[in-house]
Amino acid sequence: MTGHIHSIESFGTVDGPGIRLVVFFKGCPMRCLYCHNPDTWKMSGGIDMTAEEILDEYEKGKSFYKSGGITATGGEPLMQMEFLTELFTKAKERGIHTCLDTSGILFSEERAAEFDALTEVCDLVMLDIKHIDDAEHKKLTEHSNKAVLEYLAYLAGKDKPVWIRHVVVPDITLDDNYLERLGQYLARYRNIQALDVLPYHSMAKKKYSELNMEYPLGDTPDATNDDAARARKIIIESMKKELW
Ligand code: SF4
Repeated sequence: MTGHIHSIESFGTVDGPGIRLVVFFKGCPMRCLYCHNPDTWKMSGGIDMTAEEILDEYEKGKSFYKSGGITATGGEPLMQMEFLTELFTKAKERGIHTCLDTSGILFSEERAAEFDALTEVCDLVMLDIKHIDDAEHKKLTEHSNKAVLEYLAYLAGKDKPVWIRHVVVPDITLDDNYLERLGQYLARYRNIQALDVLPYHSMAKKKYSELNMEYPLGDTPDATNDDAARARKIIIESMKKELW
């Protein structure tokens, strides 16, 4: 079997613990307004690679990746669930730490058997929660957040370690009320091991213009590191309040 891969990044340091081989999968059903990788949306283009070919890439930098492992990102890796499961299964056979960076949008109870097989060979899930409010999530991504939140509940049921990622965008998610709601929601899950709050920035504008695409967020200002730190504090405080 081959996977349809956009690109592979060596020595990644932000997509999971340690130094990692980061595999960008092709295809994504979401259309996030702040997406940095619109070139991964369509399945066309990219390269076909077998799991062995990807693991050969890993072997080249093996001594660096000892503290890290492999991360599947994209795009949305769950679009190629069967290949993703094969890649992670073969990685685990070699003792490699596996991390899935996902929006969780393709989760459904009907596909529980497929998700169970994947979860068995996945050490860590980095789950991107784009917006806690469903109506706002639809505006931001063109999809409901129902499957995303169900996936988080499913992962909690499996006691699978999860890192939550949340991007704060001025006038969209950078809002005390929404951040508090997110904290209240997350407080119920004990498998959440980290919370990464990232400031929105418009660096992808150039990529959109190269792709002849209109940049969806127009002149929305960038969020600052201070905005992200403050937002994280609000989420954490809200989680604590919920627990006391
Ligand atoms: S889920 Fe990720 S790849 Fe897909 S549109 Fe959103 S930001 Fe882009």
